[in-house]
Amino acid sequence: MATHAEIGVIGGSGFYSFLEDVTEVEVTTPYGKPSDSLFVGEVAGRRVAFLPRHGRDHRLPPHRINYRANLWALRSVGVRQVLGPCAVGGLRAEYGPGTLLVPDQLVDRTKSRVQTFFDGEPLPDGTVPNVVHTTFADPYCPDGRKAALRAAQGRRWDAVDGGTMVVVEGPRFSTRAESRWHAAMGWSVVGMTGHPEAVLARELGLCYTSLALVTDLDAGAETGEGVSHTEVLRVFGENVERLRAVLFDAVGALPETENRSCLCTHAHDGWNLGIELP
Ligand SMILES: [Zn+2]
Repeated sequence: MATHAEIGVIGGSGFYSFLEDVTEVEVTTPYGKPSDSLFVGEVAGRRVAFLPRHGRDHRLPPHRINYRANLWALRSVGVRQVLGPCAVGGLRAEYGPGTLLVPDQLVDRTKSRVQTFFDGEPLPDGTVPNVVHTTFADPYCPDGRKAALRAAQGRRWDAVDGGTMVVVEGPRFSTRAESRWHAAMGWSVVGMTGHPEAVLARELGLCYTSLALVTDLDAGAETGEGVSHTEVLRVFGENVERLRAVLFDAVGALPETENRSCLCTHAHDGWNLGIELP
């Protein structure tokens, strides 16, 4: 089926634009429209749905992304495992531009984002989500992380295994004081989109793995002028090809959907959700 996919990749058009036989699928959700259409194609023998996180013309800033619609849309075409590549700032001198980090922890410093499906608001079909407290001690899929790290290794990219991604509201970059604080807390990288993407995936029983590409040393981590958007785009552009290679290898290495046994699949054991997941 051209519109079916088992794996989702949330990232820009640089990851799918050259694939043959990509089907554009428009999806609407009870939460409104996702950032863009899904672009469904085949990678490493697996059906993959690509979703440009900021929209194909990059019109959505991080705090305006409809994260709930994005995750719901992916699940509704069959996706059960998600890879989320993103650009981040490094909080340690050794995590310079071009570093790839596969985080194992997350700190939420966002301020204005809806971060749950279980908010008591009825869906258009009249069903009402129950109060549900989702287990989130380990925010990323252990099997997805393994697949990503192995894929990086296979491409001779010495990825950092683990670390904490702090997610800030944006769209501005951090002040030097904030950046020094984040570093002093022992956190590894700072981004703007990793939350609530990860928790919403977990709430839908989806495996979620973040691949964080360092595009700059964050403001306090170094002495220069601070982060500029031009610099971020330049470094991302320089690395997009090998990041795509790693992503595609990781897609091929993910477990078959029906064989998943990771913690993500048990997030709601014992809960009555009150709503039907797509
Ligand atoms: Zn998982």
